[in-house]
Amino acid sequence: MKEALQKAVREALESGKAKATVILVEKDGELMPRLVTKPDDPAIDSLYSGDRRYPTASFVVMLQPVITGDIAVPVRECDRRMLFELSKRNQVDLERLVLLGTPCTQEVADACGCDHPFTADDIAIAPSLASPADPLPLPEALQSNDPAEKLAFWMGEFERCIKCMGCRNVCPMCFCNDCALDNLDLVSAESKPPEIPIFHLIRAVDMADRCVDCGMCEAICPAEIPLRQLYRQARQIVKDAFGYEPGVSEEKSPVEMLGEPTELAGMEEGFRTGQIPAE
Ligand code: SF4
Ligand code: SF4
Repeated sequence: MKEALQKAVREALESGKAKATVILVEKDGELMPRLVTKPDDPAIDSLYSGDRRYPTASFVVMLQPVITGDIAVPVRECDRRMLFELSKRNQVDLERLVLLGTPCTQEVADACGCDHPFTADDIAIAPSLASPADPLPLPEALQSNDPAEKLAFWMGEFERCIKCMGCRNVCPMCFCNDCALDNLDLVSAESKPPEIPIFHLIRAVDMADRCVDCGMCEAICPAEIPLRQLYRQARQIVKDAFGYEPGVSEEKSPVEMLGEPTELAGMEEGFRTGQIPAE
């Protein structure tokens, strides 16, 4: 697979199909993106094609405005969903990207619950849209019809959060310059661990029409909070209400067209502190 990907990268540059490529290389045990513009660049020899994942899409967002011409990018299926959703939000120009489908091993696909990873046939050009994998099995507490039981489950999970911000920083769909998690009216700067559940609910609401279910936030969370499950539930609300699936639906998010921003000033104080008032 590595050789096939190296060949596709070199061909994209040699043929002029792409002016540059973004590949992953491994240095001192760390993965990092590399911009390559020449087919004989020795960095292509050390192209990384192993099981570890990397938020390459964030790098493409930064790079595309300063590169004239098309960029070839090896992508896994989840990277493709990210870039597609980012293009609808004017963060990347999909027309100027050449997506090289990168197959995942069965082990990675199983760990992600992905039932349609790219195959070797997709390396030349990644194919079009496919939905994320079937829903993960719900933990028992979340199968309950009792909201208090569900809240207790999530509060128990959120209590372990150390506010490292890894979940936000790894997420290519978190591209806002002004992040609500830095808004001191919503999240106190001093609080470590963060106030719960508001910290996590802000992010979950933000992700409801953006999350492409890549699972990288959950993989990086040192507290092992089942974040992917949380954002899947948020995604499901938007899907049920509007039929919209981030990374899959062709149209733009309906949530962006709902009108004026919601006024948060009157928010109940109890909600900030986790003492949500009883109905
Ligand atoms: S990655 Fe985990 S521990 Fe870090 S801020 Fe996010 S939820 Fe909290
Ligand atoms: S699974 Fe996590 S990292 Fe991936 S898009 Fe959703 S919120 Fe972002």
